Amino acid sequence: MSNIKCIGILTSGGDAPGMNAAIRAVTRAAIYHGMNVKGIYRGYKGLITNEILDFKTQDVSNIIQRGGTILKTARSEEFRTIEGRAKAYENMKAHGIDALVVIGGDGSLTGARIFAQEYDIPIIGLPGTIDNDLYGTDSTIGYDTALNTIVSAVDKIRDTASSHDRLFFIEVMGREAGFLALNGAIAGGAEAAIIPEYMFEKDQLAETIENGFRKTKNSSIVLVAESELTGGAMGVAERVKKEYPQFDVRVTILGHVQRGGTPTANDRILASRMGVAAIDALMEDQRNVMIGIDNDKIVYVPFSKAIKEHKPIDAKLVDDLHMLSI
Ligand code: ATP
Repeated sequence: MSNIKCIGILTSGGDAPGMNAAIRAVTRAAIYHGMNVKGIYRGYKGLITNEILDFKTQDVSNIIQRGGTILKTARSEEFRTIEGRAKAYENMKAHGIDALVVIGGDGSLTGARIFAQEYDIPIIGLPGTIDNDLYGTDSTIGYDTALNTIVSAVDKIRDTASSHDRLFFIEVMGREAGFLALNGAIAGGAEAAIIPEYMFEKDQLAETIENGFRKTKNSSIVLVAESELTGGAMGVAERVKKEYPQFDVRVTILGHVQRGGTPTANDRILASRMGVAAIDALMEDQRNVMIGIDNDKIVYVPFSKAIKEHKPIDAKLVDDLHMLSI
C-alpha cells in the first residue's frame, strides 16, 4: 500500500469535454481513500506560478455535466525548461503534494514523464483529448462527445448539400489522427474521409471521385482531417476546383465547436472510471502510467508507450466506409 497522503490534479493542453467528470472522480476517489487533494489551476503553468488550492468534495459538485475544465488549462513553455520544472517541484513540495494526476494529451503526458523521471514523483496520466490519438486506450476522454458534435453538424450540412446538389468538404479536428474524420464519416453517412494515415498510401481524393461518387447521388459529403498532410478541407477543395471543375464545392471548418459542450454519457462514464482508476493505481504503487481502456477493461499503459507508439487506424473501418458509400 502506498503512503501517498496528498495528490495534486491538473488539466493541460487542449480542453476536452469530460475533463470535469475526471476531475470530480479523481477528487472524490482520493478523498474516499483518506487523501488530501490540491487543485492546480492552468496546468503546468499554475504549478510553476503556484496557483494551487485545496479541493474538497463540494468543490467538484455540479460539474460532471459541464464541458471545458474548471481547473482551466494552459500551455506552458516554461515547463519545458529545467528551471521551470524546478520551480514546479518546489511548489509541489511546499503544498505537501506527494503525487500528481495529469489529464491531457500526448504533450502533457510527455511533460509528465520527464518531470516524473527528474524528481522521482509518482504521476498518473488520464488521456484527455478529443483526438483519440493516444496509444494503449480504445478511447480518450472527450472523443465521444466531439464525435457526436461532428455527426450532428454533418446531419445539418447534409440538408443544404442535398438541396443544392453540392459537394461539401467538412474539416474536423484530429491533427495527425483520422479517428474523428473516419468515424464521423461512418456515423454521418458521409461518402468518404480524407485522413493523414493514408496520405502516402493512396490519392484519397482521386479515389473518392473515381469511385463514382455523385454518379448515384445528388450530393456528397467528405470529411477531411485537419492536418498538414491532408492540406485540410480548403486544400482539398482547391484541388477539386482545379482538377474537377464540374463540381459545385463548399467548405465548412467545424473548428472549436468540436471541443465544447456537454459531455456525452459515454465520456462521463469513461472519465469517472478512469478517475477512480488513477487513485487505485497510486494506491497500488503504480507510477508513470496512463490509464487506458481496452475492451472495456481498465489498463495501465506506461507513458513511454502511450506517447511514443503510434495508434493505428483500423483499416477495416476504411473499407467499411468505402463499401457503404456506393
Ligand atoms: P492536445 O492533444 O489537446 O493538444 P497536449 O497535451 O498534447 O493536448 P501540448 O500543448 O502538446 O498539448 O502540451 C501541453 C503542455 O505539456 C505544454 O504546454 C508543456 O507545458 C508540456 N509539455 C509538452 N511537451 C513537453 C516536453 N517535451 N517537456 C516538458 N513539457 C512538455
